[in-house]
Amino acid sequence: MRYISTRGQAPARDFSGVLLAGLAEDGGLYVPETFPSLSREDLRAMRGLPYAEVAARVMHLFTGTSVPFATLQRLCREAYAGFGHSAVAPLVQLDSGLWVQELFHGPTLAFKDMAMQLLGRLFEHVLAEQGAHVTIVGATSGDTGSAAIEAFAGRDRVNIVILHPEGRTSAVQRRQMTTVHAPNVGNIALAGTFDDCQDLVKAMFADVPFRQELHLSAVNSINWGRIAAQVPYYIYAALALGAPEREVAFSVPTGNFGNVLAAWVARRIGLPVARLVVGSNRNDILARFLDGNDMSIQGVEPSLSPSMDIQVSSNFERLLFELLDRDTAATARTMTDFRQSGRMAVPDAAWHRARTLFHGFRLDDTQTLAEIRRLRAATGYVAEPHSMIGIAGGAAHPAGHGVPMVAMATAHPAKFPDAMEQATGTRPLLPARLGDLYERIERFSRAPNDLAAVETLVRATVLRNAA
Ligand SMILES: *Cc1c(COP(=O)(O)O)cnc(C)c1O
Repeated sequence: MRYISTRGQAPARDFSGVLLAGLAEDGGLYVPETFPSLSREDLRAMRGLPYAEVAARVMHLFTGTSVPFATLQRLCREAYAGFGHSAVAPLVQLDSGLWVQELFHGPTLAFKDMAMQLLGRLFEHVLAEQGAHVTIVGATSGDTGSAAIEAFAGRDRVNIVILHPEGRTSAVQRRQMTTVHAPNVGNIALAGTFDDCQDLVKAMFADVPFRQELHLSAVNSINWGRIAAQVPYYIYAALALGAPEREVAFSVPTGNFGNVLAAWVARRIGLPVARLVVGSNRNDILARFLDGNDMSIQGVEPSLSPSMDIQVSSNFERLLFELLDRDTAATARTMTDFRQSGRMAVPDAAWHRARTLFHGFRLDDTQTLAEIRRLRAATGYVAEPHSMIGIAGGAAHPAGHGVPMVAMATAHPAKFPDAMEQATGTRPLLPARLGDLYERIERFSRAPNDLAAVETLVRATVLRNAA
């Protein structure tokens, strides 16, 4: 199984290589050189299997010879054993043709755990094989940082340091990062914004001596390992609802186009998917593209669904590459122009092709709060803002009679208590296993918005762990 860059100027790598590399050297994203495929027989054989087994079979298509199948089965069993629901990613029916798939039963209550719990174990396995060590650095506005820390805490051969903007993440999100006490974890509260945090991470990667000294690595949403690990739950849901004999549709609240890209990959390898609804909040670049081929960057506005407050959807490049018939030169040119002009010129034919499968949907904060109330009154189901956008998008764009629509619920309501209180008047309770989050001791360092100061703190984490 080999992976190539969407921009055609980076070396091809195997799964282990793309897992550790993240971004390709030419600025492109790694994609399979040829997609694997699942036959209808393969799909039928997975019906009724536990989630971890479905995950192992699907991941095996992408890991190739990098990870033996028996190892993959063990890693998947371990990754999902700690989830708060024995079905791992259960389905809940809301209406005759509408289901929710709950992806938030992992340790940090957001769907990032679905991929990150497996990624932590895959990193450890691959690094042990290679006798290597890495330092993962990342910036977070909330969910990614906590899921990554939870997944990598205490693992051999990995140090992880996460920057968050001081005072700008929710208390739940911050505490999920700062109350994990392991020698290989560093938390930095930066005097600055999320963009400052991201710029500092980029600057650390650009500091070549520092990058080489600490063997920097990243687990942001463009890492192919994360996309691959998000494919199994689409297959798991579809099988439960009658695939491959029956087509299914998915509605996905997305910002970086990562989760919905995984749904596209599931279809690409053989799952019968009739429609994909792409949900946005007021930061609606994806909806504007799908409605009118308008992929133009506007300012990011804060919303009640902060994990989707994104204007440049980094994973879109992978779909663009396919829409352009895998033309690496055209992909590179389109992306470079986009960065310069703030507007992406997608040829009309490619745009029309995208619209045969994808439907855009947007919901602003006022509408989202109203929908949360309406859904709760009608069904008793309580959805937080990100999930609500997915559910409302699915209800608004059904794929046709007899095609089940599955909306992805990406976070537990207790992760966004302020928004839930605004919508419903009550603050949801944390699940029992997290109930003492507010009593736990927090540990983090503060840093000014300065590269040298942050690099010193990253190095200190690595040295402390080595001692
Ligand atoms: C990260 C996140 C999203 C968006 O995921 P993409 O990778 O951008 O598709 C949606 N909802 C929640 C709760 C998230 O944490």
